[in-house]
This record gives sequence, C-alpha cells and structure tokens, in this order.
Amino acid sequence: MQAIITEAIAERHCYLVYQPQFGLGDGELKGFEALVRCQSPHFGLISPADFIPFAEESGDIVELGRWITRQAIHDLAKMRKHSGMPLYMSINVSPRQVQAGDIYETFMKALMDLNVPPQAVKLELTETALIQNPGLIARTFKAFQGDGIKIWLDDFGTGFASLNLLREFKIDGLKIDKSFVDGLHSSEDDFTICSAILAMAQRLGLSTVAEGVESDPQLQILSQLGCDSVQGYLTGKPATLEDCSQFWNPASKKQCA
Ligand code: C2E
Ligand code: CA
Ligand code: CA
Repeated sequence: MQAIITEAIAERHCYLVYQPQFGLGDGELKGFEALVRCQSPHFGLISPADFIPFAEESGDIVELGRWITRQAIHDLAKMRKHSGMPLYMSINVSPRQVQAGDIYETFMKALMDLNVPPQAVKLELTETALIQNPGLIARTFKAFQGDGIKIWLDDFGTGFASLNLLREFKIDGLKIDKSFVDGLHSSEDDFTICSAILAMAQRLGLSTVAEGVESDPQLQILSQLGCDSVQGYLTGKPATLEDCSQFWNPASKKQCA
C-alpha cells in the first residue's frame, strides 16, 4: 500500500472533490469542505480514510498537503467568481503538515497568488492533532488567526483531547462528528451529546457544523438545537469542481436531479 500511495502522489493521481455546507438559519450555501481522492491505475479509487494514514506515516502528506492547499484555493477562487457568492473553503490539515514548518507560508502564498481573502479559508484539525507538539501548533494557529483564517476542530468528541484545549488554542468552530449525528433522532444518548456540544459551543461563542447529515429528522433537530450549519449526503454529496455549480444554481440542480 505504501508504495502505491507514494507513486500516486508522485504521479499526481489525486484530485479534489468538494462537499457543500449550508446555513441552518437561512438555508443558504456557505462554503465547501475539500476532500481528496486518489485514483490508482492499479487499484482504482482509494478512499482517503485508507491512504491518508499511510501518507502521514511516510511523510508524503506534507507534499500532498501543499498540493491540496494550492488546488483547493485555486478552485475556491473559481467558485467565488462563478457563483458571485462569498463562499469559504474548509481544508483538512494533518499534524505532519504543521510540523513541516511551512504551512502558514504555503497558505498565504496561495491566497495572495490567487487573490482570495484569508477570511475565506478554514483549517480543520482533529483533537488528536492538537496534543502533538502543542507549542508549535499554538504558534501556527496564532499566525493563521492573526490573518483571519479560522481554525476548526474536526470529528469533535471522538478524540482523546480535553475540553481545556478549546480555551488553550482559541478554536473558532466545532464539527460535530457523524457518529453522534447518526443516532440523533433514534438514540437518547446521541441526542444528549449533540445538545450538550451545541449548548457549550454557543456559550463559548464557537461556530458549529454538523457532519454526516443524512435525513430530514436529523436536520430538523439540529436546527431546533441551534446548530449553525450542516454538511451531509442529505444536502449534497462531495462533487467535482465542475459539478459544484448545482449547489448555487437551482436551475442546474433541477437538471441534475
Ligand atoms: P472527515 O474530514 O471527517 O470528512 C468527512 C467524511 O465523511 C468524508 O469522507 C465525506 O465524504 C463523508 N461524508 C460526508 N457526509 C456524509 C454522509 O452524509 N454520510 C456518509 N456516510 N458519509 C459522509 P471521505 O471523503 O472519504 O474522507 C474521509 C477522511 O479522510 C476525512 O474525514 C479526513 O479525515 C480525511 N481526508 C479527506 N480529505 C483530506 C485532505 O485533503 N487532507 C487530509 N489531511 N485528510 C483528508
Ligand atoms: Ca474534515
Ligand atoms: Ca469530520
């Protein structure tokens, strides 16, 4: 697997897809999360859940991450131009990319080259990423946030980190993990966990996105609980740049349906 991943990255067998996020208050498209795909000539489409851990282990994620950053910001510039909307792009970041030391420069150069405001970009990191090298992480976040780039915690509630991290790292937003959203309408425990996360986020002034929303009942409950935005198959599956116009263009959405 390792050799396949290394080859796929070197040979650029990767591409990005984008999953929309909609505001629950107004139902409007707010932005997208960039998700990487790898099309291996030997094994076909490989899920990032399978190849990202290998790329992290080998260090290939650093070069791949630089490419993802440039490509996602490049495509965001096109989306903002074509939609006429102030859309944002949320980009997943692995701890190895922060440790490489040039992540801030990579983002800022891409933003400047493509004339995209830093406020239009969010970084998604997992809780686990924060506990590795906290000093460097804090300095890197400070640089990003100083320029208006928001920092989000991904898969919130599934890692090993303590709530103290929310204060220590001045996190801007939480993504509620799909595993909690799944049972929102059927499990009392999942409902309680989601309500508690959302109540805490509101009190701390953090923004929220619920991920993996697949049904109307989940959407209704999240709306009642005051979640800011949703992302999931119900409102839109990850799509190529070409197909993303369906999310801001209702006419083409009807044609695609
Ligand atoms: P994640 O960041 O938690 O991404 C959300 C995953 O849930 C995506 O899987 C997305 O396609 C999937 N998803 C979204 N809505 C639904 C839904 O309603 N139902 C179901 N069943 N699934 C849904 P994907 O694209 O396979 O990505 C898996 C993981 O791979 C990501 O989890 C992230 O940890 C990692 N990953 C993906 N792209 C990147 C990247 O560019 N950089 C890094 N470092 N990691 C990435
Ligand atoms: Ca993510
Ligand atoms: Ca997630």
